[in-house]
Amino acid sequence: HATGKVFAVDDLKAWYGESQALHGMNFDLGEGELVTLIGRNGAGKTTTLRSIMGIVKNRTGSIRFNGEDLINKRTFQIARAGIAYCPEERDIFSALTVSENLSLPPVLRPGGISDKDLLAQFPNLERRKGSMGTKLSGGEQQMLAIARILRTGSRFLLLDEPSEGLAPVVVKEIGQQLLKLKALGYTILLVEQNLRFAKSVADRHVLVENGRVVDVMTTDALEADMARVKSYLGV
Ligand code: ATP
Repeated sequence: HATGKVFAVDDLKAWYGESQALHGMNFDLGEGELVTLIGRNGAGKTTTLRSIMGIVKNRTGSIRFNGEDLINKRTFQIARAGIAYCPEERDIFSALTVSENLSLPPVLRPGGISDKDLLAQFPNLERRKGSMGTKLSGGEQQMLAIARILRTGSRFLLLDEPSEGLAPVVVKEIGQQLLKLKALGYTILLVEQNLRFAKSVADRHVLVENGRVVDVMTTDALEADMARVKSYLGV
């Protein structure tokens, strides 16, 4: 498509009842690019992902993916179009085993990875394949939540704070998996508060404040101006 971008939101606004949470977001992703949304709590990062998925329904603007506008589509249609969402809560089935969790998501598109191949791709999960969701560590749950969406065949992944609450060594493992997915050509939009992690995996960063994009920076630019970035984050 003309811009060479696989995904773009333009003037995206969203509301919870009377309360407006997004005030006109603009950003885009090239195919195979890994981009973060960074910003302080309440800036609108999660709302952006939920608006893209049509979970927040009261939204306007355009959400173009592969040349198609998804703004009037419903969540199941957006999933079928090839966008997968991994929420912050991870939402794995705690009463089911790892294998069972991996076998549940529907294959929506060609290229969905089978549960067997997912276990091969995520050795941590292979080791725990018979364990119930409740028995998994936070990091294992996060790996499972990411692995599970790959079954659908979606090539565009929306990930909400996969590093949250995890030990640094586990965050590193998650980062390695994300880089592997990037190498496989997946396009990834990642909500992050952990700047070190964000810098270690992403190409570009969309800075969000009060439901607006205040800047878009490459990782190099971000490195060079950490003071400004930290002021946005309030750290
Ligand atoms: P966090 O990392 O804390 O989730 P965020 O940047 O993802 O922060 P959002 O969760 O998207 O921010 O919140 C954006 C705004 O929308 C905030 O003012 C928040 O209070 C509001 N908001 C979020 N969810 C709801 C909801 N279900 N109902 C009403 N307001 C909400």
